[in-house]
Amino acid sequence: MKILKIAAVSAVFAAQFTLAQFKQTPLPYAYNALEGSIDAQTMEIHYSKHGAAYASNLNKAIAGTPQEKENLIKILSETSKLSPAVRNNAGGHYNHELFWTILTPEKNTQPSAKLSKAINETFGSMDAFKEKMSKAGADRFGSGWAWLSVDKNGKLFVSSTPNQDNPLMDVVEEKGTPILGIDVWEHAYYLKYQNKRADYLSAIWNVLNWKEVSKRYDAALSKK
Ligand code: MN
Repeated sequence: MKILKIAAVSAVFAAQFTLAQFKQTPLPYAYNALEGSIDAQTMEIHYSKHGAAYASNLNKAIAGTPQEKENLIKILSETSKLSPAVRNNAGGHYNHELFWTILTPEKNTQPSAKLSKAINETFGSMDAFKEKMSKAGADRFGSGWAWLSVDKNGKLFVSSTPNQDNPLMDVVEEKGTPILGIDVWEHAYYLKYQNKRADYLSAIWNVLNWKEVSKRYDAALSKK
């Protein structure tokens, strides 16, 4: 009888837990796959410790709240009404899930013709865009992110946010759908680059997954 009771309670607990189960997607390459630009130890700690903590702390922060039944985009869109723990960890989870996918060991991936054209039209050239993006990351005081996003009119823009905020949040001034995000927290680069954030920001283009960014660009435009 006692055993049955425990089993029943566990089943209810499991069902509740599943509801709030934000999970990391597996890293699409090995920890050492980006060596030369991002070292294996940084990738391992970043993904398996920092990334994992955002997901599990998000689950804890929303446990027993209406956000348990919401998707991540919805949660991000209403951060002004939610606790700092939800804001930081929902942002952290979303940002890192995006970050792993826009990196790749594949060499010389290229933006689609459509994205390439939009970058040239918006920023003047690919080099001018990279410079603007790197500057956004370099100028971010303390921890945060540099973003390339699509605004509500389908236009590209570069911005930067502090902490784990991102352009999907209602609290952020420059809103849009991020298609490329660069993590400039020290945990993303300090073991290899120490204080030289600019060197990390210039190396990251060597491992950028332009196929993924192009895919996200198409998806962002199709929602307009
Ligand atoms: Mn990070």
